[in-house]
Amino acid sequence: QAKNNGRNCYYAFNEQMSSDLATRLQLEAELRRALELQQFRLFLQPQVDLRSGHLAGFEALLRWQHPERGLVPPDEFISVLEQAQLIVDVGYWVFERCCQLSIELNTLGLNNTVIALNLAADQFLQPELPQRFQQLLQQYQLRGEQFELELTESTLVSHVGQTLDVMHQLKALGFAFAIDDFGTGYSSLNYLKRMPVDTIKIDKTFVLGMLDNSSDYQIIVSTIAMVHKLGLQVVAEGVEAQQHLQMLQQHHCDMVQGYYFSRPLAPAQLIEFVRDEVLQQNWPARLLSCSN
Ligand code: C2E
Ligand code: MG
Ligand code: MG
Ligand code: MG
Repeated sequence: QAKNNGRNCYYAFNEQMSSDLATRLQLEAELRRALELQQFRLFLQPQVDLRSGHLAGFEALLRWQHPERGLVPPDEFISVLEQAQLIVDVGYWVFERCCQLSIELNTLGLNNTVIALNLAADQFLQPELPQRFQQLLQQYQLRGEQFELELTESTLVSHVGQTLDVMHQLKALGFAFAIDDFGTGYSSLNYLKRMPVDTIKIDKTFVLGMLDNSSDYQIIVSTIAMVHKLGLQVVAEGVEAQQHLQMLQQHHCDMVQGYYFSRPLAPAQLIEFVRDEVLQQNWPARLLSCSN
């Protein structure tokens, strides 16, 4: 009896596994086609510079416009893109799209806006990445200074030697670097010292927790202080409420990004946003006046 149950169990587990695999393979095939059929979209979320009180730039965030499922968020497909090595090609598409959006923003009258984009580990470890990015910059007549590349802690610690080399090559082209989701990964403070990083992005889980959780609050306060002592700048993501902003301003956070100011914007919304809000100097209206 026990043996029989065991076998049933084993069988069920296997079936579950193979159906998961089938689902993943189907998703993989769909994603492969999504690139060909141009179903990917890049949304831009504004970032506010608290020092100047103005728009600092945008973060580019990937979406999948699925014919039946609608707009699919990246958490549902980035890991599949990574597993299938599709992230490399999608990553080049993302950067090219960022170049086009940068030009569009220029045309609208926003000069030298910085666009931050996310890079996956496997994408970053492509030996030809700096050269491909350089070619795209030349093709669109843009400078590296107009972009910030966001890497996570795990990317930085996975292949330190190689990562450092690629970073220096991209740095030479003018690109800035940010460490994304700071504090959630394998935090080795050693890389802050050794790597040419410009910006630290405090993960939204700390910001969203800081009003109720004193550890989150203390982590934010000490991260801002440490980052400043190292001569780097700090961005807080996940700013959803006025109280978040208030506290971050009190502790001299340099930049913020979050739903309190704006959700990530589709290209059509972006044009309206720039024309009707930013250029009319109505944005950000929700900024609190500084007390110092
Ligand atoms: P991330 O780089 O940490 O991006 C910030 C995420 O926080 C975005 O989620 C953004 O929409 C969300 N967010 C912004 N403000 C708020 C807020 O006030 N409250 C809350 N709850 N969330 C906020 P999104 O767009 O779903 O992206 C999720 C993750 O997917 C990104 O996290 C990034 O790791 C990854 N990703 C997005 N685009 C790309 C890409 O082009 N390439 C790669 N490799 N990864 C990407
Ligand atoms: Mg990011
Ligand atoms: Mg982040
Ligand atoms: Mg994140």
